[in-house]
Amino acid sequence: MSWVDSHCHLDHVAFKHDLPQVLSQAQDLGIKRFIVPSVGSHRWSKQQDIQEKYPNTYHAYGIHPWFCDLHNEEHLEQLDDLLNNAVAVGECGLDFSPNKPSKEQQMYWFEAQVTLAKKHQLPLIIHSVKANDVIASTLKKQSTCRGVIHGFTGNINQAQTFIKHGFKIGIGTRLLKANADKTKTLLSQLPLEFILLETDAPDGLGRDARNEPKALIVVANAVAKLGGHSAENVLNLNPASGTFSANPQE
Ligand SMILES: [Zn+2]
Repeated sequence: MSWVDSHCHLDHVAFKHDLPQVLSQAQDLGIKRFIVPSVGSHRWSKQQDIQEKYPNTYHAYGIHPWFCDLHNEEHLEQLDDLLNNAVAVGECGLDFSPNKPSKEQQMYWFEAQVTLAKKHQLPLIIHSVKANDVIASTLKKQSTCRGVIHGFTGNINQAQTFIKHGFKIGIGTRLLKANADKTKTLLSQLPLEFILLETDAPDGLGRDARNEPKALIVVANAVAKLGGHSAENVLNLNPASGTFSANPQE
């Protein structure tokens, strides 16, 4: 069996010097494929380089809510084009924590990307902070969406609403933190089949530590331990093939 890290930013500068080693260490542990979400147009060409060089990386293209105010209509056209060669749209979404672009701007770019996901029949990789209910009501209006709520921080009712709309619940290294009680409570209520494992590398371990895709195994072990499952069963939630049914070459 081989698995996929469903969310890792391999285009991040943190991997500038040793990406081949980072990938081979993960591969040695059975993590054979990598889904790379994008944060904005300033990194699209870097992603395209990686996409070309490493055929086991699968790319999503999108505009992260933190950077949406740096984009214009031309970027939207460019994105539309990039999505012809992508496995998902994202990461996009809403982040209503302080010091972010205005709610109006974020809503505009989120809705535009939901529309593109429908057009290209691609899943969405959604970043949602303090915005689960607004995102749920936006998705409710768009009946054919699917995807993942990445790094999910909500409660079981919100998770169930997303699941009803065809979304998986992204669980990552937040679970490893000392104050992970909320995520642990959620996991005790959430059927395993709705979970999608991710690392969010190089983020996810705090300011000073670089997270890597190989940590997917650590996340799986933590989920397994909480629910009394085998680690193998949990890792099988992220099969290398077909995690997003839009995966090319499947
Ligand atoms: Zn991310």
